[in-house]
Amino acid sequence: MRCLNRRQFVWTAAGAATSAWAAPAAKYDLIVKGGRVVDPSRKLDAIHDIAIAQGRIVAIQASIPAEAVETLDARGKIVTPGLIDIHTHAARIKDGPALCLADGVTGWIDAGSKGADGIDETIAIARTAPQPCRVLINIGRAGIIPEGDTMDLSRADVAAAREAIGRNREMIAGVKARLSQDVAGANDFEVLRRAQQVASSFHLPVMIHMGQTISPLPKLIALLKPGDIVTHMFAPPPNSIIDDSGHILPEVLAARRRGVRFDLGNGRSGHLRWDIADSVLRAGFLPDTLSTDWTPEGRTAQVIDFPNVMSKFLMLGMPLERVVACATVNPSRLFPIFHNRGTLKVGAPADIAVLDLREGSFEFVDNFGNQRTGRQRLVPSATVLAGKRVSTRA
Ligand SMILES: [Zn+2]
Repeated sequence: MRCLNRRQFVWTAAGAATSAWAAPAAKYDLIVKGGRVVDPSRKLDAIHDIAIAQGRIVAIQASIPAEAVETLDARGKIVTPGLIDIHTHAARIKDGPALCLADGVTGWIDAGSKGADGIDETIAIARTAPQPCRVLINIGRAGIIPEGDTMDLSRADVAAAREAIGRNREMIAGVKARLSQDVAGANDFEVLRRAQQVASSFHLPVMIHMGQTISPLPKLIALLKPGDIVTHMFAPPPNSIIDDSGHILPEVLAARRRGVRFDLGNGRSGHLRWDIADSVLRAGFLPDTLSTDWTPEGRTAQVIDFPNVMSKFLMLGMPLERVVACATVNPSRLFPIFHNRGTLKVGAPADIAVLDLREGSFEFVDNFGNQRTGRQRLVPSATVLAGKRVSTRA
């Protein structure tokens, strides 16, 4: 680590004549002051100051009296590690990454917007994004298409996907297989088999989009290896993770035991229904990660922003600390690009979300038009990326 107590005392121009010292340079670049710091990676929930220098967190304690170039007043706010969203489509539009950054998202994965044919477009956007990010390649070579990515099985083109990854190994972090009936038809199992063929040759994870599949979920889950991710875990039948009597399928429990991760993927259609979420959470099967399935359209309906998505799980009864874990430390462990992020420990990159936890009456809607009223809403307030305050909201 750089020397942090370096002080650059400067002689005045008059020098020895007056022997006067100029004020010492500030010790820190930024102090985030007085917020309620919720950092599940350290089991920390307390009013703390966070001091930042050289883009990294250098101190976190109840009070840091030293001088900083800039102070961010976080009194009355929640301060968490920067949010990491492992299922977005931020790379679909040029300003996607910046829009997400203003929501507190300091790391993201574009989950299969494009396949081999269009992957260069998403990678170009990812490369210019301000925050760390990677893309998943859709096993359907044409990407997400209205007629269904792999309804025509020839689009699940192993050779084309391998070639695309070979050209972009540093930016492609996994393979996405969308398996619902309207996307893959009866090809779901074969599409997933091919996705694994591609992924395993590069030792990458596969993310499956589950729910409303033709094949039974246990048959699909059997193809998942440790480190793979199941998104849309609260999708209603056919082929939910839970049966009619409220039991999580044994194959789902076994998959979690062998290291398969379960993710929300909020989205806008077919993925989230309150009664299924109630049953799954009641069965004690909590998500590993929360994610938005963000799209430009989702900004105005249902998804809105990541903190809004997190708020739904406060409403559903998950404790704040658990909700924050699912948006910070847990997702940081799923992709190497997020190594050492999702935490506010000293030495970590200073990526921070400042959120306003508002109390009141807030309407939330699931993907089926069902409304529920929550008592709390997390609202993005400010984002710090690599030690720099990058945006502020109301
Ligand atoms: Zn998606």
